[in-house]
Amino acid sequence: MDVSIAEEETTIRPVDFSGPYGVLIDGAVVATDEAFDVLNPADNEVIARAPLATTDHMEQAVGAAKRAFPAWAKLTADQREAYIVEFFEALEAQKEDFITLLSLEQGKPRYSQADFEVNLANPWVPETAKSRLKDVVLEEDDDRRVELRRTPLGVVGAIIPWNYPYLHVLWKTVPALITGNTVVLKPSPYTPLCALRIGELAAQVFPAGVFNIVTGGNELGQVLTEHPDVDMITFTGSTATGAKIMAACARSIKRVTLELGGNDPAILLPDADWRDAVPKVFWAAFGNSGQWCIAAKRIYVHRSFHADFVNAMVEYAKTQKVGDGMDPSSDLGPVNNRMQYDKLRDLFADIKKNEYSVPLGGIIDETHAGNFVPITLVDNPPDDSRVVQEEPFGPVVPILAYDDVDEVVERANDSVFGLGATVWGRDLQGALDVADRIASGNVWINGGQSHPTNAPFGGHKQSGLSVEHGDEGLASHTNNKTVVILKRPAS
Ligand code: NAD
Repeated sequence: MDVSIAEEETTIRPVDFSGPYGVLIDGAVVATDEAFDVLNPADNEVIARAPLATTDHMEQAVGAAKRAFPAWAKLTADQREAYIVEFFEALEAQKEDFITLLSLEQGKPRYSQADFEVNLANPWVPETAKSRLKDVVLEEDDDRRVELRRTPLGVVGAIIPWNYPYLHVLWKTVPALITGNTVVLKPSPYTPLCALRIGELAAQVFPAGVFNIVTGGNELGQVLTEHPDVDMITFTGSTATGAKIMAACARSIKRVTLELGGNDPAILLPDADWRDAVPKVFWAAFGNSGQWCIAAKRIYVHRSFHADFVNAMVEYAKTQKVGDGMDPSSDLGPVNNRMQYDKLRDLFADIKKNEYSVPLGGIIDETHAGNFVPITLVDNPPDDSRVVQEEPFGPVVPILAYDDVDEVVERANDSVFGLGATVWGRDLQGALDVADRIASGNVWINGGQSHPTNAPFGGHKQSGLSVEHGDEGLASHTNNKTVVILKRPAS
């Protein structure tokens, strides 16, 4: 493999954001015979036609990734880092176009949340590319040395959802690439466009076959998952699909990382500065219109300030505008797609039927062409209600009163999910004690959700398996190899 392109000065051709879309297979961006519509969630008008890849395309992509693997794996990590840094620079150069495209296909506000997503994702790329998994000497004496080494797996299949379609492309591919694997990525059919444009840049940076992107329906994900030449699946999406993927991976004992659904509690302890927490908890819950795996989806508030907190949340929420993502005055955008919108309509019907108290929102204006759902707060519904038990994945959140800390911990843990939680309290040790008792992969104390580059991210229970990010996340893209070296071979 010629590694010179990363070492010399190169000029990456900018992507023509008005041009047609093609899949990325074996270093070439290619058109497909058929295409599918991608809709703007703000009005459900077609914004582009994306390539509808076939099983043959997926075969070609996996074949290319398999052929490219040995030479890519043989490079030093520094050489691979050089490619990734060049890729990052190309992404940065066209950042503003990517932010606009992200807003158009996903629906999130262009000037706040789309901007945030791209600016979170891009710097993460070179930071992660700097990481190195070191070989470890487990034992050494005059006679022998025992080493733990790590080797790349081979072809990594990456499957992503529609809520953060720019960020997830990078979060899934960069750790796989830096550890020496090649990649085939399948984005969500609702949001394939950012991934495809990223692919046009990747095509110019990486050696052919190292980075492949194939777009189409769910069945393509199934083909990727079942493919015998794919060594690992890294999946982000719903728990239901995660279970199918895990079953398919079992057939060839593939490595699998699952980042799945959540129903995260936010717990305001009796000593919480609840007035200060109101806007922070609001954004922890309603950021990205609630379409967020680690969104706060159940807000538990001590009864001593429950009523005041509900009123303050209502007043704050009224200052936030739901609208078209391209309108600079919008704070929250529409829900990404009709499938999710219909699920929310059904949940809203359940809330109405059961006559739960709804101090804000609750009525979807179905005459609007876009997938707009109002900010909705539900006051103290029963613990077994659907809005408490399910993951709404939209802008609707229950606020639940509790009386004592043991009780709230028990209720917070009463879920099949265990992805994240936020805990709010002035006494940090008290908040930490509660954090220790919450069955979830991530807990944030006195603040919204953040993602330090070197911190592992993953879920407990049905929220996932294995982790992404940090050394543990990198290690999940490798095989362990224990090497025992006898220093004095028998004569
Ligand atoms: P989804 O499971 O419907 O789809 C996710 C991806 O899987 C898509 O690309 C889809 O085409 C593909 N897919 C669907 N069926 C498949 C199959 N049988 N085999 C292989 N691939 C298949 O999820 P979604 O609706 O796109 O995303 C929302 C869900 O994702 C929510 O539950 C949310 O909590 C979860 N999520 C989790 C995280 C996390 O890090 N834990 C992050 C974001 C979203």
